[in-house]
Formats: sequence, structure tokens, C-alpha cells
Amino acid sequence: VTRFVDGPLVDHHCHGLVRRDLSRAEFERLLNESSGPSALGGSVFDSMVGLAVRRHCAPLLDLEPLAEADAYIARRLELEHDEVARRMLAACGVADFVVDTGFMPGAVCGPATVAELAGGAQAHSVARLETVAEALLADGTDAADFVALLVDRLKSSGAVGAKSIAAYRVGLDLPAEKPTEEQLVRALADVAPDRSGAFRVAHPTVNGYLAWTAIELGMPLQFHVGYGDADINLRESDPLRLTPFLRATQDRGTPILLLHNYPFHRHAGYLAQVFEHVFMDVGLALHNVGALGRTLLAESLELVPFGKMLYSSDAFGLPELYQLGSTLFRRGLSSVLSDLVGAGELTEPDAHRIARLIGSENARRVYHLAGN
Ligand SMILES: [Zn+2]
Repeated sequence: VTRFVDGPLVDHHCHGLVRRDLSRAEFERLLNESSGPSALGGSVFDSMVGLAVRRHCAPLLDLEPLAEADAYIARRLELEHDEVARRMLAACGVADFVVDTGFMPGAVCGPATVAELAGGAQAHSVARLETVAEALLADGTDAADFVALLVDRLKSSGAVGAKSIAAYRVGLDLPAEKPTEEQLVRALADVAPDRSGAFRVAHPTVNGYLAWTAIELGMPLQFHVGYGDADINLRESDPLRLTPFLRATQDRGTPILLLHNYPFHRHAGYLAQVFEHVFMDVGLALHNVGALGRTLLAESLELVPFGKMLYSSDAFGLPELYQLGSTLFRRGLSSVLSDLVGAGELTEPDAHRIARLIGSENARRVYHLAGN
């Protein structure tokens, strides 16, 4: 069932995982974008991602496929938490993890630990622009020094790319011109700390300036697009809103990677087709839709050039999510390709080549990763 997608993958967008024992409620809180089981709507296990855990993760913990949720959680607690992580990550067949280190760094492990738990994969990091900017502001950086220090921090980060979470803060109507430093300084004056002293960059000029800075530094720029937790206004995070920004940056030579995209994955496929520097994935959505992922992949492939689609899990917290991302990607894409081969629309070597492009080669080209 994964015959065309059996090679090593590059997971070009994921996070760290939680290294401690989790109760059923804590596990459910991390399983999808909800805040956990709903008093009105029941367990997160009663959803496609819950079924996927029982179907595809239970056997890795020596349980029968589709073991009950309580039995799954009990077995998880019986094994040491790092042992669970090692089993899940080894089953991914991921050679390189590209890890966003900017979200709740205190709660999850770093890139090196993810790669080590996977049994010796390569680890890379992505710098989250808003986190870098907020750290500068928290350090008391003067607005006049902000630009130089921002560029310094990004250049010295060792990251293979940058990530914008403008979608979470101001939506994706980013400026089609880089704001001037004067405009930036004025905007920074409006960014005030909360009561705890933490800054939250949510100003169109500042979020826009950050994205433009990554473009000018030539750092492959990821955007959170579409599907996310209740903190996002999904309506404001349709990738079509980025069109003026994409048009304005297309001659810069910096790749732009649209992450997740669901339910706007067809919009993302269109943008990847018409703008030379635009790429996409359907991470996060893929494990959430579980066994229905074939449709999601097929709809994405309607327009996206095969050289513009990437694999990501967008796993955060639970080791199961890396494994589900990989398994459902392999099964879903193989199913789509098999049908095309069966219908005489594609040769078998074509199918293998397309699977390699999407599974690893596109990411290696975009982020300049070594290896095959
Ligand atoms: Zn993410």
C-alpha cells in the first residue's frame, strides 16, 4: 500500500515533542487543534485522527490494530515515554527533520533530540520571525537598532529557513512593498508588552517587515496558512490573500513555502502553479483527516507542479503525529499514483520519480540540504 512512496522522507515542517508521561486528557489535548475533549462533543479519539492512532500507532506499541483508546493510553504509560517516541519516530522513515523551534520551546524538545530519537536522522532548524522579533523587544532593543539586530540574529541562527506566523497575528494581507525603516520604527512604538512583560508582534507593518527581511536575506520563507487552533481567524488566512505579496516577491529568487493550507489547499496549488517561487504542503491536515487523506492529496495534485509539493507532518508534542504524517502520506500518495498507473495515465518509473520529488527531493533543493 506504500509501494511508490517507500524511500526516505524529508519532513520539512515539524516541531519538538513532549518527553514525559501523558494522561488521556493531556494526550487528547495534543492530538488535534481543539483544546481537548469537549464536554458537549466527546473524546478526540472519536474523530478521523483518533481512528488513525488506533489503527496505525497501536501496532507499534504491540497492540492489535484499532485497540481501544483506554488500552492505548495504558500501554503508552506502561512503556517509557522515550521508548514510545523511538518506536514512532523510527517507523517514519524520515531522514531529515526541519524543525520550527519558535513555538513553546519550553514544552518540547529541540531538533537534535527529535533526530536522535529517530535513530540518527539529520536535524535542521527554522527561525520563527515573530519569536526572534519578540525576543529582541523583550531585551529592550531600541527601535533604531532593531533592524540591524534582526538581520544579525537571522543570519547567525544557523536556520535553513524562516517562518512567518502573520496568519495568526494580522492575517495574510501582507504589504506588496517592504515597509520603510521609518514606518517600522513608528509601528514598533505601538507594540507594547503584556502584563508579564512578554511582547506579541501583531502589527501589519511589523509582521510584513519581518517577512520582507527573510525574502531579502534569501532565507526560504514558510508561511503558516489555513488550518490551525482557535487562535487563528481562518477566514484571514486564505493563501489567496498573499497574492500581492507573492507577485511582488517573485523576482527575488527566494522560495516561499505555504504550510498546511487546508481547507484552501486547492488555492495553494493554484498559487504554486502560477508563481515560480511558491511551494506547498498539506501537513497537519493529513493526519487530522486520517484515512480520508487520499482525497486531500488528490485535490492538491490537481494543479500543483510535482516540483512544488513537499512533505511535512507538522507534528507537535506527540511522537504519534510524526508517524501518522509519514504513514498517511505514504499510503495516500501511493494510492493516488497507483490508480493513475493502473489507468495507464502514468508509468511506474514516473510514479516513483514523482514520489521522490514530493517526499524528499523538492525539500532538499529548496533548503539546500545535503544527501540524496
Ligand atoms: Zn507547525
